[in-house]
Amino acid sequence: MSDTFRAILVTRDEEKKQSVSVSEISEADLMEGDVTVAVEATTVNYKDGLAITGKAPVIRRFPMVPGIDFAGTVLKSGHSRWKEGDKVILNGWGVGETHMGAYAARARVNGDWLVGLPESMSVQQAMAIGTAGYTAMLCVMALERHGITPERGPVVVTGAAGGVGSVAVSLLSRLGHHVIASTGRTSEETYLKDLGATEIISRDELSGPARPLGKERWAGGVDAVGSHTLANVLSMTSYGGAVAACGLAQGMDLPASVAPFILRGVSLLGVDSVMAPLALREEAWRRLAADLDPAKLAALSTTIGFGEIMETAGAIVEGRVRGRVVVDMG
Ligand code: NDP
Repeated sequence: MSDTFRAILVTRDEEKKQSVSVSEISEADLMEGDVTVAVEATTVNYKDGLAITGKAPVIRRFPMVPGIDFAGTVLKSGHSRWKEGDKVILNGWGVGETHMGAYAARARVNGDWLVGLPESMSVQQAMAIGTAGYTAMLCVMALERHGITPERGPVVVTGAAGGVGSVAVSLLSRLGHHVIASTGRTSEETYLKDLGATEIISRDELSGPARPLGKERWAGGVDAVGSHTLANVLSMTSYGGAVAACGLAQGMDLPASVAPFILRGVSLLGVDSVMAPLALREEAWRRLAADLDPAKLAALSTTIGFGEIMETAGAIVEGRVRGRVVVDMG
């Protein structure tokens, strides 16, 4: 294996202007860690789009190799859980933000951050899921812990044609829920119905200012959008229901009232994937291997090469990417 390898490198000049280039780096440029991994597949999440375009301050150390997710094979390990040849997945933990990330042929990380690749999954399938899909699973598990069963009534998924949304629609429908998919791309109706959505509603129904309480339309929700959309989802959640909130595609604000909480006993369940404890991650990946239909996963993902990462980063922040993107590093 050669000493240098290609990586996307984000640098910042004295005026704090960010530049992105494809560079040759070596293991000496990587950061501290006890496991070195050959990155075989990665992906482009919304957060990667923000990092590469510089539209939000995701990167907190320069220079940085962006990319918050990877799957690959262990090359070297000083960690008791991992040995050369093991197949592993990494999601989050500040990788691609404060620790050199996935958009390079090799990564060196803390072995505590890694999860074993489920036996039934390829590295490409793991990255078709990626942080977005693993977060969708965390949202589904949060709803389950709150007792949101299919018998309780429909569930709504916002940002449905995006990464988190597409995986959430597929999972919830496979688990027997009546899924209402909210999207700004009504042209994606067939796509969303093929993933398992029962009803499609326009994003416009949820994106304006919310009334304190609306008509009870769903027992639960997975929200990747935040802002007015989350406020509307809460106001239309039925008595005792719950909404798992994980995203901010519309905005980071939450212009809501307390009425759904104090008059309907609705719960807002916060979901974070980045610092989620290992046991929860392992459970999420076990459930993804068991509950996500591989045919649906194939239908919601497209594959690109390393050279297309930057263009895709721009497209995802503009809401032009459907479902999930796998980057095959081969
Ligand atoms: P995508 O870009 O793939 O999906 C976001 C979707 O949100 C879009 O496809 C679009 O869906 C919808 N959307 C975009 N802009 C707006 C808008 N202005 N108003 C309403 N809806 C909008 O991103 P991901 O699925 O990768 O991530 C979704 C969100 O979840 C992001 O905010 C991301 O940062 C967050 N996230 C959080 C995690 C956590 O740990 N909490 C982990 C992973 C993601 P449509 O076209 O169907 O309307």
